[in-house]
Amino acid sequence: MIDITRRDFFKLTGAAAVGLLFGRTVEAASKPSAVRVQQTDIDFRSARIDKNIVRIRNGAGDLMYVIEGKNKVALIDTGLGIGDLKGYVEKISNKPIVVLITHGHVDHASGTAQFDDIYMNKKDNALFREHTAMGNRQGYTGACNPEWAKTLTDANYLPGDDPDRFKDLKEGMSFDLGGVHLDIFDLPGHTHGMTAILIRENRALISGDGANMFTFLWSGETLGLTSYEQSIRHIKKVTEGKFDKMYCSHGGGDLTIDYFDRMLEDIAIIKAGKDDAVDFEFMGQKSKIAFAIDPAHNRLDGGIGNIVYDPKRINE
Ligand SMILES: [Zn+2]
Ligand SMILES: [Zn+2]
Repeated sequence: MIDITRRDFFKLTGAAAVGLLFGRTVEAASKPSAVRVQQTDIDFRSARIDKNIVRIRNGAGDLMYVIEGKNKVALIDTGLGIGDLKGYVEKISNKPIVVLITHGHVDHASGTAQFDDIYMNKKDNALFREHTAMGNRQGYTGACNPEWAKTLTDANYLPGDDPDRFKDLKEGMSFDLGGVHLDIFDLPGHTHGMTAILIRENRALISGDGANMFTFLWSGETLGLTSYEQSIRHIKKVTEGKFDKMYCSHGGGDLTIDYFDRMLEDIAIIKAGKDDAVDFEFMGQKSKIAFAIDPAHNRLDGGIGNIVYDPKRINE
């Protein structure tokens, strides 16, 4: 625990919570800069991060990945379902598209309606229905990027979707894109159906929100901390030696390759009661951020990554 003065200083306001959730700084959330204004004009931006991998960022800062093989492309996640994502992907490659949804949250699964060939772990079907409902998408977008949200009408939002038409996605499955294989691993914790994807030939692992700079483990759809620890131990073992790049779904998108070890260290510190346990409240739900951060969300102890957890569910 940290002393009361520091705790008060770092007690998160609602605006900071939004910044944390959506990978933006508090300053960016409240004060539009020239870059922010520019960003309201388009729904997507992208950068080629490997010869056959493009990272797409939507107006809310949520990240998606396009992976190209000789015969097919895979789109990892579909963002908020705002704007013509399919048209955008087709400009990157005109090969047939298979869509893999890492988990059923609003910011990853809301744009499936444009696509035919879709996979998601069925454990997230109920969550998908709740999260991708129109009101929730509009609420999220408005909280996350108010200036962008103001430019949108109902017509900008794609229709919703029925996850019963999706195919199940689970560990052991593999997708051959033509010289590029995607190997599927379960990473339950952030949600029950959370999925990680190894891009075998690129030696890159997409952990999605399952392990990211602020791993959220505090709401009804998440696992307790001890179950999550088992998940991390499992994926670390089954992916050992198979990757030397690690990508996530928020913030800059790049993680360190020892990230699972860092998370295990942080979980041990939380379980020993030696973390900072900074109060965190979002939408009426009280939880803790493990390590105290400065206003730009950097850890005061110099560590990388953080965990938001429910102190009542540490041993679950
Ligand atoms: Zn999520
Ligand atoms: Zn997310």
